[in-house]
Amino acid sequence: MEPVAVIGAGPFGLSTAAHLRARGIPVRVFGEPMVSWRANMPEGMLLKSTPAASNIDAPQPGHDLVDYCDAAGIPRLVTDEDIVPVETFVAYGEWFRQRLVPELERVRVVSVDRRADLRGFELKLDSGEVFTTRAVVVATGLSGLAHLPRELAVAAPDGPAPTGPVSHSSQLHDLSRFSGRELIVVGAGQSALETAALAAETGAQVRVVARGKRSVDFGAPPWQQPLLRPESPFGRAWSLWALTYYPHPYRHLPPAVRHFLVRRVLGPLGAWWLRDRFEGKVQVSEVARILRASGETAGRPALTVRTLGGRIEELSADHIVAATGYRVDLAAMDFLGHELRTRLAVSRGTPRLGAGFSSSVPGLYFTGLPAAASYGPVMRFVCGTEFASPRLVRHLAARYR
Ligand SMILES: Cc1cc2nc3c(=O)[nH]c(=O)nc-3n(C[C@H](O)[C@H](O)[C@H](O)COP(=O)(O)OP(=O)(O)OC[C@H]3O[C@@H](n4cnc5c(N)ncnc54)[C@H](O)[C@@H]3O)c2cc1C
Repeated sequence: MEPVAVIGAGPFGLSTAAHLRARGIPVRVFGEPMVSWRANMPEGMLLKSTPAASNIDAPQPGHDLVDYCDAAGIPRLVTDEDIVPVETFVAYGEWFRQRLVPELERVRVVSVDRRADLRGFELKLDSGEVFTTRAVVVATGLSGLAHLPRELAVAAPDGPAPTGPVSHSSQLHDLSRFSGRELIVVGAGQSALETAALAAETGAQVRVVARGKRSVDFGAPPWQQPLLRPESPFGRAWSLWALTYYPHPYRHLPPAVRHFLVRRVLGPLGAWWLRDRFEGKVQVSEVARILRASGETAGRPALTVRTLGGRIEELSADHIVAATGYRVDLAAMDFLGHELRTRLAVSRGTPRLGAGFSSSVPGLYFTGLPAAASYGPVMRFVCGTEFASPRLVRHLAARYR
């Protein structure tokens, strides 16, 4: 049997590959292990997810985060009050890979096209190799999907860059480069607030600009959450519990509801432990709207904003960071061949998935972030591997064994 191709070596790709191997299905896995966590998140970051919500799902026991802690001889990360450093999580992913996906190929998939006889796919690798397979799992996560809103993009005609006036938060790993400088961070999500706090801690003067009144807020610590609501990896709430443990019916909801929930559930909110590191150290400007950014006003980039009181103001700094998240858009997944993309059923730029994470092109599967519009917001997080991987692999095994 031709091996199944798994494109991606982040938590979702590694988990899917481990499940395929456990079923005896030959697999080739491509990508840089845990690269989003190593290169596209700030050094010193702490995970917002609790240890229990930071397990990469494996087909056999003994591969949770706490098992890695035991194997590495470091303090166990177990309770909701234990906070996971990104460096520990990267090392956990690498340990998981070595044990369960040892044959990972650190090459890029340049293109995926359907074979002329429509019996599977042809993949080109950046090593120059071309090979064919009956099934492909796309687990490319955040790669290439960083979102820069139009009003900020105008100030970065050559694209966002840490050396230009505007960057995207995914481009900033070492925040010490901003020490002694003034920084504006646009956004109110965990990424914005943690980037701001980390930059302030390295000696930058930081202002967060966020849209809406009381848009900058932090979650309640675990010991203050209402006990009568059910527990979920994201906190105690009926909605979070349902979306985490019962994502099955999600894809049958009306498209408008699905897309709204993916955007809004678990939306902008800082982690409980970030509040003390943020308040009093980072300035906040809550505005009605950001009208535009300009590359250089008196030598510095600036934001023109409408204040909550309706005035027009200009805020300038040495650099602007857009912590404006990621947006799934099949058009940006340029390794998928043109013909393949036109064949895919889509919903607002995202693949429309059926049972078992299968797309409308037989043999082509999506997991992780690109599956969130079909299976719900939990697919944006590592704990989504628990639902996704066994189901995807069961579906695939039944058809392509
Ligand atoms: C700042 C920040 C903080 C976050 N914190 C948390 C958190 O605390 N908890 C949590 O659960 N989630 C968190 N997330 C979300 C988290 O990043 C995702 O849940 C997770 O990374 C998704 O894993 P993935 O395997 O789908 O993709 P990724 O981890 O993004 O991995 C993508 C993989 O695809 C590979 N790839 C891409 N294109 C190709 C190609 N053409 N050929 C070959 N390989 C390719 C890459 O090399 C990489 O291996 C955070 C996200 C951000 C941005």
